[in-house]
Amino acid sequence: MTACGGQTQRIIPATMGSHFYVVISCKTPQCGIIGALKYLGPDIAVVEIGEMAPTGVWYQCGACQKKHRYELEEMRVEESDLPPPPGWKSGW
Ligand SMILES: [Zn+2]
Repeated sequence: MTACGGQTQRIIPATMGSHFYVVISCKTPQCGIIGALKYLGPDIAVVEIGEMAPTGVWYQCGACQKKHRYELEEMRVEESDLPPPPGWKSGW
């Protein structure tokens, strides 16, 4: 008795080169730049921010240099083509 033929193939995600970040929008009204808090890695299937994030994070904006506090509800996950630059530091 044989299993129905063929080889078992590993399924490789079609979208290569996607990088996922936990991001926030700067709270300074005239700034609003998107800042990355944490790099999650490439090709993530399911992201649960709540399981990884502390409850609220202080983040200093690289553009306007203002520091604001961001709660979990204000964080979201965004996809980028670019990996983090060398020396980039995660928020936690
Ligand atoms: Zn800013």
